[in-house]
Amino acid sequence: MKSGILLAAVFATACAPQLAATQTVCASPIDTVYINGRIWTADTTQPWAEALAVVGDKLACVGSTRAIRQAADASATVIDLEGRFVAPGFQDSHLHLPGPSLNSVPLDTVTSVAELQAKLKAFADANPDFPWITGRGWGYAIFPDSTPDRAYIDAVISDRPVYLTMRDGHAGLANSAAMAALNITSGTADPPNGQIVQDAAGRHTGEFRESAHGMASGLIPPETTDARYATLVANMADAASQGLTAVHVAGASAEALALFERAWKSDALKLRMHVAVPMIPGAGAYPENHQLARPISEADLAPHIAARESFKGPLLTVASIKGMLDGAIDAQTAAMHAPYTGTDTSGLSFWDPKELNETVALYDRLGFQVLLHAIGDKAITEALDAFAFAAKTNGTTGRRHRVEHVEVPVLADLVRFRELGVIASTQPMFANPDATVLNNFEPLLGPERAPHADSFSIFDDAGVRQAFGSDFPVFYLSPIEGIAVAVTRMTAEGKPPGGWHPAGRISVEAALRHYTIDGAFATFDDDIRGSLVAGRLADFVVLSQDLTQIPPEAIRATKAMLTIMGGQETYRDPAF
Ligand SMILES: [Zn+2]
Repeated sequence: MKSGILLAAVFATACAPQLAATQTVCASPIDTVYINGRIWTADTTQPWAEALAVVGDKLACVGSTRAIRQAADASATVIDLEGRFVAPGFQDSHLHLPGPSLNSVPLDTVTSVAELQAKLKAFADANPDFPWITGRGWGYAIFPDSTPDRAYIDAVISDRPVYLTMRDGHAGLANSAAMAALNITSGTADPPNGQIVQDAAGRHTGEFRESAHGMASGLIPPETTDARYATLVANMADAASQGLTAVHVAGASAEALALFERAWKSDALKLRMHVAVPMIPGAGAYPENHQLARPISEADLAPHIAARESFKGPLLTVASIKGMLDGAIDAQTAAMHAPYTGTDTSGLSFWDPKELNETVALYDRLGFQVLLHAIGDKAITEALDAFAFAAKTNGTTGRRHRVEHVEVPVLADLVRFRELGVIASTQPMFANPDATVLNNFEPLLGPERAPHADSFSIFDDAGVRQAFGSDFPVFYLSPIEGIAVAVTRMTAEGKPPGGWHPAGRISVEAALRHYTIDGAFATFDDDIRGSLVAGRLADFVVLSQDLTQIPPEAIRATKAMLTIMGGQETYRDPAF
């Protein structure tokens, strides 16, 4: 970014009330000016502005409406924001694309077995040609005693195989026809780090956990490449409509990376896409086979290194690695230092600590950023141990390694995040206190651990860099919903009053930072985007409401009106 025409000097340390004192020198020619806004810049030297000017894919200047109008000549397009709130484009720092098939049943909103059965039957009746019926998004709480069983599906679909992925992606439920198609018999053994669940009588219930779920879902006939690409295109458009301009794909198979490359080469990317590739080369993105036949060597990483050379941004970037250290709380597969309350199980650590340390150190030495999924307190400790080992062994700093989800850390580990420069990659919707959180998640953790689970304040208070994401398709990818939950810890219905463990709440501005500049930091992009500063990429979103001026319970009603990525519109609301 040495181009002379982008040189802009902004002499301002003032915030909104002193905008008149701002002197803005803005190089011409300017393509477009956006005026009369309430612009939250995420830049501490000039937190608020009224207007910004775009040249090419970058911001030419940011300042007062008067100064920026003066700087633009008559040929510039002028867009009047009419007082609307503007923020840097949102970044979702942890999601999964291309996303669930457009041809599967969404079950995220289902609250009972009867509702699940009605949805499945309607979908099967409407799609008589589909050889398999797939769906995703169910939670344990909808089943009596939180116990899923294939009989519930058999009651409505028995002629075709059905496989339904649980909402956090760590388990699935098959019907009896699918069990037969998958060749699961009473003699089938559990795979390592997985479970084909049996009831007390030794009968398979149809539930598959962790690597068993990975095995089962891997045997379902895949969709065509064109169908997967159509899903990607649809989900990118949806993301842009929610104000997102950048995402970090937390683990992508070679097939998924090929789809992203196709979108990039077709000029169809609507998001800046950072892609983490699997820690075990050649493994599926999620969940992994965590068993190493032999230590990973540098030679094994040739495809990862080649991908990094091919995709260097700023639209498509491969520079990070995703590994899985444990499962999830709801399935009791997250690795805990002490057993789940009322049980004698402490979950599963997927990696041998020595192998983990050596694998992470190898990636660290080669300059990769490492993202480790760790939800239980024991897995989080193991992740930090591995990052500490890598830094010490290699003498490296500034790798910006990350722990994904970090749902139940031991409080003593917080300081290690800061000292090691490790980023907490958290998901506000995980704290949305729905029935599963209140009736399954919280009781499993018990009174010692639940109060600080999915707390967002503990990281901010400890000075730990925190980047927000959705874990889509686990949750919908709306940053607005995420901000609402981070600020209120209440459901859309306003429950529970006062919020679930309200000490974990954070301010709107803190939540905005975690969706903008902190996300950019987590992808090494904080010097080119994530804040609205002259010379940086013109990525921003215009919202229907000023999030900093409305009551917290009104946040969810906010809509993205206009999304700009690299100076180009990726979404415009019809009402704008
Ligand atoms: Zn994820």
